[in-house]
Amino acid sequence: MNFLKRLFIDKCPTCNKVLNTNKSSFLKAKVIKTCPENHYQKEFHPALETYIESDKVS
Ligand SMILES: [Zn+2]
Repeated sequence: MNFLKRLFIDKCPTCNKVLNTNKSSFLKAKVIKTCPENHYQKEFHPALETYIESDKVS
């Protein structure tokens, strides 16, 4: 069940800080959540019902 738990995590797995939500991408039909320390990024694409996760934010 760790995989499912990871899909819904709203905290950085590295530093455990709450992710910031980038609402500027609302019009692009996706939500980006990022760690304030740039350890982790998660994109949610409602149209695709898919999460894209990154361990590093470029
Ligand atoms: Zn972090």
